[in-house]
Amino acid sequence: MSERLAELIRERQPCVVLTGAGASTESGIPDFRSPTGIWARFDPREYATLGAFRADPEKVWRFYAPRFAMLGEAEPNRAHRALAELERLGLVRAVVTQNIDLLHERAGSRDVVEVHGSIRVSHCLGCGAEYPLAEVERLLSAGDGAPRCERCGTVLKPGVVFFDELLPEAAIDRAFALAREAALLLVVGSSLEVHPVAGLPRETLDAGGAVAVVNRDPTWVDAHAALVVRESAGDALAEAVARLRPDEEPVEVVEHDPAWAEAAAAEAERVAGTLDAVAVEHVGSTAVPGLAAKPVLDLLAGLPGDARVSPEQIRAMEELGYECLGEFGLPGRIFFYKDTDGRRTHHVHAVEHGGDQWRRHLAVRDFLLAHPDEAARYAEVKGAAAARTAGREAYWEAKSAYVEELERRALSAPGRPPDPRS
Ligand code: NAD
Repeated sequence: MSERLAELIRERQPCVVLTGAGASTESGIPDFRSPTGIWARFDPREYATLGAFRADPEKVWRFYAPRFAMLGEAEPNRAHRALAELERLGLVRAVVTQNIDLLHERAGSRDVVEVHGSIRVSHCLGCGAEYPLAEVERLLSAGDGAPRCERCGTVLKPGVVFFDELLPEAAIDRAFALAREAALLLVVGSSLEVHPVAGLPRETLDAGGAVAVVNRDPTWVDAHAALVVRESAGDALAEAVARLRPDEEPVEVVEHDPAWAEAAAAEAERVAGTLDAVAVEHVGSTAVPGLAAKPVLDLLAGLPGDARVSPEQIRAMEELGYECLGEFGLPGRIFFYKDTDGRRTHHVHAVEHGGDQWRRHLAVRDFLLAHPDEAARYAEVKGAAAARTAGREAYWEAKSAYVEELERRALSAPGRPPDPRS
């Protein structure tokens, strides 16, 4: 799926992106219409209309105050970061967002069209004074109700667009123009139920453009879309950007370093705690003494049950410096990587403990440990592949036939090869 998404983005660049609340759920902000969403607990007519606000601003602020605190603390997630990177790569022209949380901007997106306003400023309904977010947060924490204008005492209104308000004209006009001009409109995390934004994909289609959707639940435009990806926005976009990132650096293969084992063991302990893994094994070339490697420490994390990784665990891995790419082309495995000083240093493959992937990874490592002659042959293949290619993809391609054969032999080796380290 991410391969097709990357292809569409490459073919139809620069694309225009339309995001909704689903782009921010992986930052811990609930959306509106999922079963766990905000409208499952609050009636929008009571809390998100200008009428409700005028009738009882204190009540509306009691709803907004904790949301302001939550939005202020939330961090951009992989979906926001991927979209910012696609813009830097020239593949995204602009992000039209229904979100009010400022997370696109904070992730580094430059051209963001906020069609439903944002929490950036609140306005005094009396004298029109503007209060930036930090000021509103200060007033909220000092007082015990609605924040009031320090000049005239009138209640402040958050800079978000209520359901019965007109949308900011310049923003919505620009959004419609962008949709019309887009060769590809990429919809991310929106139920496409809130109008007029829900009509943007129709503009693109009518003008001859294509629409791609990354959303967990169905939307009206799915039947007309060139691609529908029913995955988490973070997974789908991180995978797509990884495929689109220019990767022309030659791969450097270096002699085996005995210090790798110790570094892998220390990292394995951190990863095991973070992912609640049953066990974490050091695998891949750096785990085989004598074998030259890139060098990237590959860790195999065996997870209990069906090997699910929660958004909280992804965030905890991000704190260890990892990016998550979802399954990244290998069903049943969640792939994480870490770069240190601009160089790839760690991979974590999270799989079901004892499952098929677990056995495959360990079989190859143990086969190489038991057959030093094969490890030496593999080192030669790597050296030759690195010498004649530039970039990770090409390097993998150049050694893939040998690796497939190696895996086949490792998996059909009689019994489990003896582990010379034990
Ligand atoms: P919505 O709640 O109607 O729909 C969200 C959609 O995202 C759902 O269809 C859901 O299946 C999907 N989704 C949720 N998490 C996902 C994930 N991780 N990956 C992929 N898909 C995921 O939201 P909407 O269409 O944006 O419309 C609701 C209104 O809510 C907008 O006007 C917006 O202003 C407002 N809103 C904003 C925020 C925010 O700023 N973060 C949060 C909640 C609501």
